[in-house]
Amino acid sequence: MFVRKYHINPETLRYERVRATRKQRVRFLVSISLGLIALAILMRFGFERSFPTPRQIIYHKENKVLRSELSSLNAELQEVEFQLAELRNRDDRFYRAILSLDPVPASMRSVGTGGSQRGIVLQNMRDPGMVLEVSQRIEQISNKMRIQSSSLDRVYKEAIDNQHFLTCRPSINPISPGDPTWLTSSYGFRMDPFTKKRAAHHGIDLAGPLGLDVHCTGEGTVTIAHVSRHGYGKEVVVDHGYGFTSRYAHLDDIHVKAGQKLKRGEVIGTLGNTGRSTGPHLHYEIRKNGHPVNPMYFFYENLSAGEYSLLASRANMSVNPYAPNAMSQK
Ligand SMILES: [Zn+2]
Repeated sequence: MFVRKYHINPETLRYERVRATRKQRVRFLVSISLGLIALAILMRFGFERSFPTPRQIIYHKENKVLRSELSSLNAELQEVEFQLAELRNRDDRFYRAILSLDPVPASMRSVGTGGSQRGIVLQNMRDPGMVLEVSQRIEQISNKMRIQSSSLDRVYKEAIDNQHFLTCRPSINPISPGDPTWLTSSYGFRMDPFTKKRAAHHGIDLAGPLGLDVHCTGEGTVTIAHVSRHGYGKEVVVDHGYGFTSRYAHLDDIHVKAGQKLKRGEVIGTLGNTGRSTGPHLHYEIRKNGHPVNPMYFFYENLSAGEYSLLASRANMSVNPYAPNAMSQK
């Protein structure tokens, strides 16, 4: 600060004011200005912190709402991803399996799951956080959907082209999933319950209560409906064409006769304990060109009752006795 200074002039013997030099004046003005600027900045930020403007209050509230929305969106995306994975699973394990199409290669499924242009832009933000995560997830889901959609287009085309083959091919569980049965013996080698020796089992055994309805698994013609002399008890064999036959053995009762044409889902008889059988069960067998194949590849245990009914009814909606509300009646 400038303090007025005086000195005695030896010539005039008077007090005279000491004048500041130009340099001193400039230095003084610069320090005053810098001080004022610093004070203004401090006041502004200190004031804003203690007394935000109405606009800042609105922004703050909006930001809070947006963050909460983003968080819910993230949770919903998780559900979408789950549904998409289910669809992919069905596509590969069910739709494609029925049509004898190979599953979509994993390399193709993972295409486009890397970073995106938008992701790179967001990464440059100071705090991209959840926005970046949501954005990347949406992009990945959209890529997966595109691949799934083209896969289903192929499945649809194949289904249209092979409608008759699909109608005939054994494709469902011979016992409704709504009925109480359990797998007691699977396809392949096992210990024969009678000879106690290792022997090939050419089908699957489904145990359940006596008298349960047994359904034809694909359109075809009955070739055998009799009491077997080879231990199968009361058995029915259906020729589905395209090299496929199916056998239903140890039946309690037979409802069809040789030469009869059947639709998928029609009841051919009831679960029994006839022939070489240690308890009530159905021996179900599928052969392709005379060679036994694993029936488990031809139906899926985890199909829901609705899906099973839908599949069964694909043969002929009007004739098929397999109405959804008949599924659990027993
Ligand atoms: Zn068996």
